[in-house]
Amino acid sequence: MGTGTPVLTPGDGGRGPTAPSGTRAPVVQTLPAEKVFAALDTSPRGLASADAAARRDRFGPNELPPAGHRGLWRDLVGQFTDLFAVVLLVASAITFLAYGLQEPRDVGTLQLAVAILGVVVLNAAIGFAQEYSAERTAESLQAMVPHTCRVLRDGERRELPARELVPGDVVVLEAGDAVSADCRLVEAHEASVNNAALTGESDAVGRTADPVAAGPVLQARNCVFMGTDVVAGSAKAVVFATGAATEFGGIFRLAAAAPRQKTPLQRQVASMARRVACTALAIGAALFAVRVPTGQPFVETFVFALGVMVALVPEGLPATLSVSLAIGVRRMARQHALVKQLLAVEALGSTTVVCTDKTGTLTQAEMTVVQVWAGGVPHAVSGVGYAPVGDVADPQPVRDLLRAAGLCCNARLVPPSDRQGWRVLGDTTEGALLVAAAKAGLSLAAEEAAAPRVAEFPFDSTRKLMSTVHATTGSRGYSAYVKGAPQELLARCTAIDWRGERQPLADELRTAVTTANDQLASQGLRVLAAASRPLADSHPAQDEAESDLTFLGLVGMLDPPRPEVSDAVDACRHAGIRIVMVTGDHPLTAEAVARRVGIVRGPAPIVVTGTRLDDLDETRLDGLLAESGELLLCRVSPEHKMRVVTALQRRGEVVAVTGDGANDAPALKHADIGVAMGASGTDVAREAAVMVLLDDSFASITTAVRLGRSVYQNIRKFLIYLFSHNIAELMPILAATFAGFPLVPITAVQILAIDLGSDVLPALALGAEPPEPDVMDRPPRSRRERLFSAAAMGRILFLGGIQSLGVCAVFFWHIHASGIPYSDFTEDNTVYREAITMVQAGIVVSQFFNALAVRTDRQSVFRIGVLSNPWLLAAGCFGLALMAAISYLPPLQAVFHTAPLNAADWAVLAGFGALLLAAEESRKGWLRHRPGSRKEGAP
Ligand code: ATP
Repeated sequence: MGTGTPVLTPGDGGRGPTAPSGTRAPVVQTLPAEKVFAALDTSPRGLASADAAARRDRFGPNELPPAGHRGLWRDLVGQFTDLFAVVLLVASAITFLAYGLQEPRDVGTLQLAVAILGVVVLNAAIGFAQEYSAERTAESLQAMVPHTCRVLRDGERRELPARELVPGDVVVLEAGDAVSADCRLVEAHEASVNNAALTGESDAVGRTADPVAAGPVLQARNCVFMGTDVVAGSAKAVVFATGAATEFGGIFRLAAAAPRQKTPLQRQVASMARRVACTALAIGAALFAVRVPTGQPFVETFVFALGVMVALVPEGLPATLSVSLAIGVRRMARQHALVKQLLAVEALGSTTVVCTDKTGTLTQAEMTVVQVWAGGVPHAVSGVGYAPVGDVADPQPVRDLLRAAGLCCNARLVPPSDRQGWRVLGDTTEGALLVAAAKAGLSLAAEEAAAPRVAEFPFDSTRKLMSTVHATTGSRGYSAYVKGAPQELLARCTAIDWRGERQPLADELRTAVTTANDQLASQGLRVLAAASRPLADSHPAQDEAESDLTFLGLVGMLDPPRPEVSDAVDACRHAGIRIVMVTGDHPLTAEAVARRVGIVRGPAPIVVTGTRLDDLDETRLDGLLAESGELLLCRVSPEHKMRVVTALQRRGEVVAVTGDGANDAPALKHADIGVAMGASGTDVAREAAVMVLLDDSFASITTAVRLGRSVYQNIRKFLIYLFSHNIAELMPILAATFAGFPLVPITAVQILAIDLGSDVLPALALGAEPPEPDVMDRPPRSRRERLFSAAAMGRILFLGGIQSLGVCAVFFWHIHASGIPYSDFTEDNTVYREAITMVQAGIVVSQFFNALAVRTDRQSVFRIGVLSNPWLLAAGCFGLALMAAISYLPPLQAVFHTAPLNAADWAVLAGFGALLLAAEESRKGWLRHRPGSRKEGAP
């Protein structure tokens, strides 16, 4: 517990100062709600701004201190204890030992020992820097997710960053909100919270505003705590502790120290790298076994075999992988998709189904009431947006309807400021109702004063209703106003207000309402109904308030589709991704919107309502999902959503699901990619999701899928690049061994210079390749597909094979052209030095062309532009320059035993490189033009 941060003392109404955390009796929990304000030195109107500022200075921001890094030292030491590092350290130690035992001592052995040690240090430095920067990226992305809360200040409701909360603030909480400080409730409407973050218990627990007996504060049912979530209902509460002084502050450090998880892809690459390391070990041992009987000196042969083994170990691989994933995450963030776990980057690439919400994701969530229907008569409403400017045609007959709907709202209209026009604080559907009421000439403030609210049953998407109880001057003293989905509301009505008269809701009037509702919905309008009933009791049971109602009318609101969505939907179709619309709205509204954005094109989509879903057992649900038609799930609750996600996953689909409400959390957690709305979503949804869309738009999901696919492709690209050149390093050695050539065509130090000097940067640049233009023209990658698929292995062998042929050819051609017999070659022979320089330069030059070749999977690299990844070109040129330095600079010649190459040598090598590119271009051309090639994934 943060003892250094002030907590209000009993003097100013806070908690008792004596007992330890969790057991002290906060005075505040035992008080009646109305006394809490005075006890915490505040008022029901909230704090005055000046007072809040003073408290902010005194108590500090409502933040937890930085978690404290897991320990830089521990991370750094970790880099040296991983399997690769240990193997290399042992190899280096043995080489040093071999140098000590050599008679006479060979400075090459010492160079190799130092080089291997250098590899370990360099590798650790890269790995450490990557992990550190990945951690910082994750932190800065987290900071981009908005975390705000609703507070009363100067008697007005405001939305503030959660860090601005101070003790004494009065906060308004709704289902889906994360609680940002420790608070005592002063009003609670069916409120319950999930205290899992504090107690580990994830069941919802009810909250009350009534006083409770003194006892452990965590058990006080009238308190809510930082880090927990409101899962249902609504409440008003007074903050009594902030920042480190909260209960959560005490356990925060434990949570922050949780270990990092590796994604399946990272595990796949790590296990592959381990297998390659074992193979390298075996090859090293085999070379040793083959060369010793040929009479080669024992220690030299051992050192050589060790060097080959080290060279074949893919040292930089895990670090390059992390970089590639991190680049993907950053690119997605730039496109408004914040990925909270690396896992999502990889799952996104294989997404086969996107279950999407309608409002806000496909549409703009800019609601405008355009028609009101009451007593069988439609009334047009003019004006657009949230400015209360416009008229209701003949408003008199719809005033009761709009009054009831308006009073049953929690949203607030915010007048324009310098920076923004009229906007809504709270639910946009409710905002539109407030605007319509104003356009009908109603002053809701005056109405609220005449009929103050005394109770509320908050909206939930299973009931699809919300109701409030008001003290009225009517015969029975109170009135319930209920608004919600027309079908749900109509089922609870027994009468209707028909042109000023209350009439029993006979069948023909029910039909008239249903027909009017269908007509509004088929225009793509979101339709809400309102009803009322008189009550004798100020706090009736929910069932009483929401039954035996008088139907008042319908309100139809327009929510235009987002302009960018049609193209995004098109891209998904093209990419073989199925889009399922999941909405709580009416089927006709859903279908109209789905048609507008292109989700539905055929004449008869499969429309399934929540009620029908309830009737389907799992087998029939599976059958329904197996049908290939366009699917709309309407009037569904979050529980239905969860069921559909599970059923789709049972069918082997990789499912992305969007969600915004608190009860979407289970579906978001269960999906392969839970996508929460950053702008309109609740805190709970954002916590449950692995990806947050900052702009709420469906188009950002498509972009993220595109980037996810390209990340996977890029990883494969640099793996093909790296492993194919390993073959080119190994083959000349094997060829020379079997041809009986007494020396090696490439030394271990040369191989290390390629692996660490000229290959690392192009591999990193390949990891940053922009998405290929046809990345969304292919079906999703199968979940079972391995990174090293047969096709990828084939490509490694193809490219590695050509490179090997090239370098073997230049080596033996050079040796043979000299006319010197094999047995006369020594390490200092100029021809030999030139030949090994040719081999090293041959690999570097062919890797330059290889990097270009692997940039595309099946498109011609000339189509995407040879210059379109300048980093890759720069990295390739750096490699060539390094090679030139090794060939021409005397100090480096001494280290690498190299010799200067002439222009003709370089021309021959460039010719081989160009041949490699041409061969790969022909292979791609063949792939592109082969019948049925589109159905295949990338090699
Ligand atoms: P969408 O896919 O359009 O986002 P949704 O799944 O979010 O819809 P819900 O918010 O669950 O749908 O709403 C379901 C229905 O409940 C709506 O069609 C509307 O009729 C009604 N409704 C929505 N908001 C409110 C509200 N604040 N008060 C009362 N009824 C509401």
